[in-house]
Amino acid sequence: MNPGYELPLDEAGYSFGFLDEYAKREVRRTILKAISIPGYQTPYASREMPMGRGFGTGGLQVTLSLIGEGDTLKVIDQGADDSVNAVNLRHFVELTCPGVDTTEHTLDATLIQSRHRIPETPLTEAQVLILQVPYPDPLVVVEPSEARRKVMHSEGDYSRLLTKLYEDIVQFDEITISHRYPTRINGHYVIDPSPIPRYDVPQLHQSPALILLGAGREKKIYAVPPYTRADPLAFDDVPFRTEDFTNEHGQRRACERCGATDSFLDELIADDGGKHWHCSDSDFCNSRMARQAEQAQETTV
Ligand SMILES: [Zn+2]
Repeated sequence: MNPGYELPLDEAGYSFGFLDEYAKREVRRTILKAISIPGYQTPYASREMPMGRGFGTGGLQVTLSLIGEGDTLKVIDQGADDSVNAVNLRHFVELTCPGVDTTEHTLDATLIQSRHRIPETPLTEAQVLILQVPYPDPLVVVEPSEARRKVMHSEGDYSRLLTKLYEDIVQFDEITISHRYPTRINGHYVIDPSPIPRYDVPQLHQSPALILLGAGREKKIYAVPPYTRADPLAFDDVPFRTEDFTNEHGQRRACERCGATDSFLDELIADDGGKHWHCSDSDFCNSRMARQAEQAQETTV
């Protein structure tokens, strides 16, 4: 133990937020730059975290740099608060950030770190959404050289990406990208919005909440600032469309737990091979069921 080492340590022996103050300051400077240039992949010195890259280290560094006492954090993975990745990240923040509350309720959270989904409940100006990003550059599928990709981004040249979408239409009659749908921010930079489904992409558009995207392995942070345009790439005659969850009779499927017909559904296969549909956002589904139970009680009283 170095006697000259006097950073404030909590009971677990970590400084608040695990990262040292210099690292957090650098991440915050990077976030400011990312907000100033919407959609621009801002490089930063991604730190080693005590977990494998690919498990949300980029999102976690953003969260740890922003969080303070009085904040309430929600962590979700594929819409669920209780999946292994979300539980571990939440536990890590609880351990290293004394005084910070955690919640499963979207409305109660000031910071929401998420992998693969944007909550169904509309976010507010008082909230920040942090998305974990595995691959930040949408151009990587058409151009292997990062130097060339940077030039293409700076010139707003996305013709090869559009060609790829067009090839999809020629081959399959529709754009087959289901996740990571390339989206143009504020009329210039096209981002990879992380592996959220197409269903969530419209929520980026004019979002009241600040949306930050952190890629730990690729050492990039980018942002969709509040009330900013976000346009998924599409063609005039082939517009962007989201998953619609219609069944073979042309009806919109409903969640089998809460009955919602306005949420993103997960398809579950039962042991007998039967298919079931549940809301992917567990807090949305549980809150809806709790409200229904309350109303049922009121009517019986
Ligand atoms: Zn539901």
